[in-house]
Amino acid sequence: MFKFLGNIISHKCPKCRKGPLFTHKAYDLKHFSKMPKQCECCNQPYELEPSFYYGAMYVSYALQVALLVTVFTAYQILYPDVDVMIMIATVIGVSAILYPVIIRLSRSIWIHFFVSFSKEVSENCKCK
Ligand SMILES: [Zn+2]
Repeated sequence: MFKFLGNIISHKCPKCRKGPLFTHKAYDLKHFSKMPKQCECCNQPYELEPSFYYGAMYVSYALQVALLVTVFTAYQILYPDVDVMIMIATVIGVSAILYPVIIRLSRSIWIHFFVSFSKEVSENCKCK
């Protein structure tokens, strides 16, 4: 279970857990969402069907709601008398800063819903 979650967070191929899901770093703002067509280690295609990652928008929405609830809860615990507009501004700011991270994480979660790990593929792929 922890390997599965670690694999999602580290953006590795769901099939072999070795190949990278993205070609660039999260804060390379021009290319942060670019993915190779397939895994460089096991050749698992990353776009399973046309427009495959549209579904990742649902995951992204859930992550944004979780972020919103976290920020509001943190404010309620730490600064209960703070103005609502400051809370909203904080949520917008944190969302803007974490936008590339959330997009990448939602894509990683989405592909992990549909492609399962294969120990046999992992042991026989060309990456170590
Ligand atoms: Zn792979």
